[in-house]
Amino acid sequence: MKSLCIFLGANPGNDEKYAEAARNMGRELAKRKITTIYGGSDMGLMGILAESALEAGGKVIGVIPDSLVKKNVSHPNLTELHVTESMHERKALMAELSDGFIAMPGGIGTMDEIFEIFTWAQLGFHNKPCGLLNIDGYYDKLLDFLGSVVEEGFLKGVHKDMLLTASSPAGIIDSFAGYEPPVVSKWVEKAKVEIRKQQ
Ligand code: AMP
Repeated sequence: MKSLCIFLGANPGNDEKYAEAARNMGRELAKRKITTIYGGSDMGLMGILAESALEAGGKVIGVIPDSLVKKNVSHPNLTELHVTESMHERKALMAELSDGFIAMPGGIGTMDEIFEIFTWAQLGFHNKPCGLLNIDGYYDKLLDFLGSVVEEGFLKGVHKDMLLTASSPAGIIDSFAGYEPPVVSKWVEKAKVEIRKQQ
């Protein structure tokens, strides 16, 4: 694995444990000589991740839309900074540059990013691993909700399980090794849907 994309909060969160996790992730990526791909900001957990990876001798590539560069939130000292015209172009480039995707604690931006790339995985548009770094149970409620999405028949269990989880940076990176996506269609067979319509 040469590069991993990390989605994470542009805010630091209310507890030092999140900053600590971002620092550990940066160091872990650098130690393993894995290039960090991320949103290119110097703010919150994003900035902490980039700093720690760079300080530990790692390569960090930021991908940021021009609209955010104009708001003065881009990191000034990255190995590379790609500036895109739109958020869509940005996400597509992050996807292309990365061998896997990890969401650390974050807000709506982080969820949007991991769910989009997880959707693409479920549809078989790519075969790269996706995971949640579940620091101190941060994502437990989301995982419970995904369990009920399975129970209600909107998501298959095998697809839910494509979203790997671990509680430490080393754990989530290790879980990506040898990842094989399931070869199961997202959709209920058309024949079964027809039967239900007739009932
Ligand atoms: P959030 O989780 O809402 O804080 O959003 C963080 C995610 O959205 C990051 O992974 C970024 O890719 C993107 N994002 C949000 N705010 C910024 C920002 N100020 N600069 C660059 N990217 C951002």
